[in-house]
Amino acid sequence: MTDYKHVLLAVDFSEHGADVAEKARTLANTYQAQLSIVHVLDNIPMPDTAYGTVISLTEETEDALLEAEKAKLMQLGDQYNVELANRWLMWGIPKQEIIHIAEQEQVDLIVVGSHGRHGLALLLGSTANSVLHYAKCDVLAVRLRD
Ligand code: AMP
Repeated sequence: MTDYKHVLLAVDFSEHGADVAEKARTLANTYQAQLSIVHVLDNIPMPDTAYGTVISLTEETEDALLEAEKAKLMQLGDQYNVELANRWLMWGIPKQEIIHIAEQEQVDLIVVGSHGRHGLALLLGSTANSVLHYAKCDVLAVRLRD
């Protein structure tokens, strides 16, 4: 079996996120691997449209969002003893940024939840599905149930 050296945990701070985080930590400990965490801010500012109320992010709300998400990431990082340099917070499209960081940091195992904030409607959430398809390393999708 492969000895993993660098595990990347992708967190969306959804309800079941702790189960995914625990699994990543257990795997990192088992393989004595480095553990990194990534959270992607995907609230893209949108102008008013004909589809109803759409919240447009101003610079202030964007900053507030960034600070709030950063605090959550820092708390999780402290809880799991993740080095500061291995805590990643970025704006973008989650699937793309997760894969980007994984390649940049030579991660050999990405851990995601089977579902996130977007619910259990699909067998596999869209972020999890894309990461599974496009990552060049192993991916563990932790099965989350209702
Ligand atoms: P989804 O496919 O969006 O239902 O989410 C499945 C899993 O992908 C989540 O349990 C997380 O592990 C990961 N994920 C989703 N969104 C993000 C995000 N914005 N940042 C980091 N990881 C995410």
